Amino acid sequence: MNNKIKKVVIVGGGTAGWISAATLKKLLGVQIQVELVESEEIGTVGVGEATIPPIRLLNNMLGINEADFIRETKATFKLAIKFENWKTQGHSYYHTFGAPGKSYAFCLFHHLVKRAQRHYNEPYSIWDYDLNYLAAEAGKFGIIKTQDPVVEMPFAYHFDAGLYAKFLRTHCEKMGVTRTEGLIEHVDQDAESGYITSLRLKSGHEVSGDLFIDCTGFRAILLQKTLNVGYEDWGHWLPCDRAVAIPTERDEITKPYTRAIAHDAGWQWRIPLQHRNGNGLVYSGNHYSEEAALAKLMSNLENKTLQDPNFIRFRTGRARKQWHKNVIAVGLSSGFLEPLESTSIHLIQSAATRLVHMFPQNGIDPQMVAEFNKQSQLEYEQIRDFIILHYHVNERTDSQFWRDLREMQVPDSLTHKIELFRANGKLFREQNDLFLEPSWLQVMMGQGIEPQDYHPLANNIAPDNLPELMKQLRRVKNEPLTRLPSHDQFIESLCKQ
Ligand SMILES: Cc1cc2nc3c(=O)[nH]c(=O)nc-3n(C[C@H](O)[C@H](O)[C@H](O)COP(=O)(O)OP(=O)(O)OC[C@H]3O[C@@H](n4cnc5c(N)ncnc54)[C@H](O)[C@@H]3O)c2cc1C
Repeated sequence: MNNKIKKVVIVGGGTAGWISAATLKKLLGVQIQVELVESEEIGTVGVGEATIPPIRLLNNMLGINEADFIRETKATFKLAIKFENWKTQGHSYYHTFGAPGKSYAFCLFHHLVKRAQRHYNEPYSIWDYDLNYLAAEAGKFGIIKTQDPVVEMPFAYHFDAGLYAKFLRTHCEKMGVTRTEGLIEHVDQDAESGYITSLRLKSGHEVSGDLFIDCTGFRAILLQKTLNVGYEDWGHWLPCDRAVAIPTERDEITKPYTRAIAHDAGWQWRIPLQHRNGNGLVYSGNHYSEEAALAKLMSNLENKTLQDPNFIRFRTGRARKQWHKNVIAVGLSSGFLEPLESTSIHLIQSAATRLVHMFPQNGIDPQMVAEFNKQSQLEYEQIRDFIILHYHVNERTDSQFWRDLREMQVPDSLTHKIELFRANGKLFREQNDLFLEPSWLQVMMGQGIEPQDYHPLANNIAPDNLPELMKQLRRVKNEPLTRLPSHDQFIESLCKQ
């Protein structure tokens, strides 16, 4: 089948469906027709509220006004994730979106910190030189417009998943995306090629198209149920396979960061929104029953609950092929990495953008499909390694769950990274890894890896100059804080616009 692609059918109206529809319509809308089919009877997964900074590129590309977006999705700003009890119980650290310190003459800042610690025997910390960390701790927020990377403060958002889907739907419908309500009961395929030709709905209505985007969530009704591409399971590295989510009343003060609080067989999230907090427990079904998980979550909630609990089961891993025949899976249908680093919505954005780059307007080219699948696989694996790092490098002794994770054999790609860093703090970004050096640095150090040595470039700064340089840099990093309003004040004034 090598037909021109004139009509794209998006199956599913969760975050994946609407981001895919918006991206395709905005960038290719003159050339293609976009129809989205969703079923209110099934609904969406109902979670997915924390994001990472590239979402701002998506909003900009779509022409979304930030104040409208914040107001209508009840969003807040996110500077970091605070990891509590991950290294040991009682210990915490931040993975911020910023970067600690500043590089001097090719020397990454953490080497200078190591040198200063050794020379002056003082507890210099990389986080004291990170504006995102300082603002997160102080509960402050503002948009810092600067050309100077040293005082940049990158951010993302927390938002209400249901309101976000509605917001995107309105945006898409204004652009000309057609929405069809209905439950898909049957999928028709071409007898020879196996390509999907149309979807038959419960109502009897039929939706045909040339290219199908499977955004049906964990059901994966096109890529898995119909085309059966198979799944690579990563449960042996990431054993959490369930979650229970429950919203509560909001806190008095809205924190500009997500909290990820480890427990004896998983962790709990706390996502602050304008109108409520999102909470959930991610856990291993081998260690907790649903009742026990709910009891555990309830015992750690500080505010009144607002809804019944939402129990979710998942399998960590990825579809063996994200694109097969004329189906491309986007979102939970393509695989799932647990929400520890809020990467799923980013994977949606990234897959939709990749599809635009490789759009098969003149028919599906197997080489392009192979390239798409190769890039998606690498992206999934790099994020997987970063998430495993949090679990594997731990010093917790209170449960078998953490001991097993510490002792497990991790992917060679991750072992290599850990060993390079442990030896002398070396960090290398590989092939477009989503997480840059400052992210790996913060999580490696936060989880307790202390490099044995620093890079010799750090010796280029005379020891007598080092304390003054550190002092100056601390001043530079702290200075913008004095001008920032509180996070709540900032949201309030933005929402009035
Ligand atoms: C516990 C948990 C926490 C998470 N937290 C985060 C987070 O903080 N940050 C983040 O980035 N991501 C997070 N995620 C992931 C995030 O929720 C998803 O990536 C995002 O919501 C996209 O989901 P989706 O659109 O792929 O699927 P869904 O939301 O499940 O949507 C599926 C759609 O397909 C439709 N559908 C299915 N079957 C049919 C059918 N037969 N006929 C018609 N329509 C059908 C449904 O009606 C629905 O519209 C989390 C996930 C889980 C499980």
